[in-house]
Amino acid sequence: MNLGDKKPEKKPLYVYYIIAIVVIFLLNFLVVPMVQEGSIITTDYSTFLNNVDRGNVTDVTVDGDYIYYVAKKDGKQVECRTVAMDDPNLVERLRQAGVNMQEAEPARQSLFLSIILSYVIPIAIFIFLGRWLSKKMMNSMGGDGPGGMMSFGKSNAKVYVKSTSGIKFSDVAGEDEAKELLTEIVDYLHNPHKYAEIGASMPKGALLVGPPGTGKTLLAKAVAGEAEVPFFSISGSEFVEMFVGMGAAKVRDLFKQANEKAPCIVFIDEIDTIGKKRDGGGFSGNDEREQTLNQLLTEMDGFDGSKGVVILAATNRPDSLDPALLRPGRFDRRIPVELPDLQGREEILKVHAKKIKIADSVRFDEIAKAAAGASGAELANIVNEAALRAVRDGRKFATQADFEESIEVVIAGYQKKNRVLSNKEKLIVAYHEIGHALVAAKQTDSAPVHKITIIPRTSGALGYTMQVDEKEHFLMSKEELENKIATFTGGRAAEELIFHTITTGASNDIEQATKIARAMISRYGMSDEFDMVAMENVTNPYLGGESSLACSFETQTVLDKKVVDLVSRQHQKALKILQDNIGKLHELAKYLYEHETITGEEFMKILEAPMPELQQNL
Ligand code: ADP
Ligand code: MG
Ligand code: ZN
Repeated sequence: MNLGDKKPEKKPLYVYYIIAIVVIFLLNFLVVPMVQEGSIITTDYSTFLNNVDRGNVTDVTVDGDYIYYVAKKDGKQVECRTVAMDDPNLVERLRQAGVNMQEAEPARQSLFLSIILSYVIPIAIFIFLGRWLSKKMMNSMGGDGPGGMMSFGKSNAKVYVKSTSGIKFSDVAGEDEAKELLTEIVDYLHNPHKYAEIGASMPKGALLVGPPGTGKTLLAKAVAGEAEVPFFSISGSEFVEMFVGMGAAKVRDLFKQANEKAPCIVFIDEIDTIGKKRDGGGFSGNDEREQTLNQLLTEMDGFDGSKGVVILAATNRPDSLDPALLRPGRFDRRIPVELPDLQGREEILKVHAKKIKIADSVRFDEIAKAAAGASGAELANIVNEAALRAVRDGRKFATQADFEESIEVVIAGYQKKNRVLSNKEKLIVAYHEIGHALVAAKQTDSAPVHKITIIPRTSGALGYTMQVDEKEHFLMSKEELENKIATFTGGRAAEELIFHTITTGASNDIEQATKIARAMISRYGMSDEFDMVAMENVTNPYLGGESSLACSFETQTVLDKKVVDLVSRQHQKALKILQDNIGKLHELAKYLYEHETITGEEFMKILEAPMPELQQNL
């Protein structure tokens, strides 16, 4: 619970106390005397004396400034009150009239009692009620453990124990290296003496880095599930507080708790929120964040590694972290959690497919191949979409077709049923997509696509090409990159060749082609002129990888020109390929136009078939 939540509920509680006290005062000062004195008649002093003289008065009590007396009136006894005068004859007078006289005892013990009765007990009751209510409120809001209304500066890390978090390493597929490294840490916490015998000490901290959705948080939860030690989990953003110093206090508290519970694991998710590089000046109000970071650095230095506190953290922006955080002795082990490869994708699909019913014919290797570049989270989503599609179609299990469709759904969005392309548009899209595929196929002499469809998608794509990803590539040659650019320009080239116009449909292709061409020249050193000099730096490689220029204006101009040259050379190449194969282009586009879908095998069959006499009549 952060401070933002605390305020609104704290205020009414104080107001409540104040109202209670005011009510008690009013009761004691106004209502009680009024009730008590309601039956007492106030008379003046002469009336009192008259009554005494007439023998109507039986009892007189002098109480400070007042004289209370009982008078007979119409045969009834009435209690009256009058003001006490400085009357020396009064006593003699009363004695003669035979009146019982007494002076009221000073209400000394009863004062003590009445204070207790009228102030202490009610206030105690109200405080008790208030406490009880606020406690109830806290419970109903899920204020768990140490976190709560009155706990400023307490960390609200969730503590997992083995049995509560059901996730195991077996639930995380692929990512074998990461699992291996983490298994070692878990093993160390189980038998520290095994390591102590040799004199090895565990790293104090390990940092999980990788793009979003690759299973970093999941891995940490799996560690919690496997390790038989307490596991504190907190997100970096939970340290960010409204008040200066609160974040640092939370860090201090977290480590205090961890030290008490050692051996244990502390997991800080999205650590970049507090671990950003400290920058020199600026009035950006970053004091608080810096204090929090400083506290974290101090705490990580402060504890003794042999005690068995291991810090895990996850981030997808490792390059933005403060170098001090990454130095040995703090997060000295970096565990990369990368996008899964072909085999990893297949395993992830299988792990998630265990949760749904599938047909026996489903081939996970095929699906994994088609879902090139998907992260673990996307694969989990693909499996779920497949199950949903099966339900929608009234089937009891998901089939291969469900999976194929769901890949497209996850990557390109749902089919847009109500968007109807005009026939002309559809034809253009067909030629465009075939243009890409044909250029790719002619350059590599292999099936370039898994499937092409020209059904509009909610993402805005009018056609969709599923690339094949036969083998994993780690190195790309200059030729391969050039071919890729040519393939991207192939769509536009086909439009130009056949329709002699250009459309807006190629914007994404242009973006991609430019990106590759720019990277080739500015980063991969693939131009003669710049040799091995980097003209651009990449920031945030895991989050899209924006790049920033690192060269003079003059160089920049040359660079831009080189990019244009490179792309237009490939564009010409694509045009030439299509020109040389224009018969196949027509044939394939016609097939796609009529069927709306073409698979890789169908594509290759048509491409490799001997040319009919089609070419003449076009
Ligand atoms: P992040 O790396 O962004 O923290 P998460 O760990 O939150 O990603 O992953 C999100 C979801 O994606 C997980 O809950 C899980 O369902 C799925 N997922 C991601 N990676 C894997 C994996 N390697 N194995 C199985 N499921 C995975
Ligand atoms: Mg995460
Ligand atoms: Zn295109």
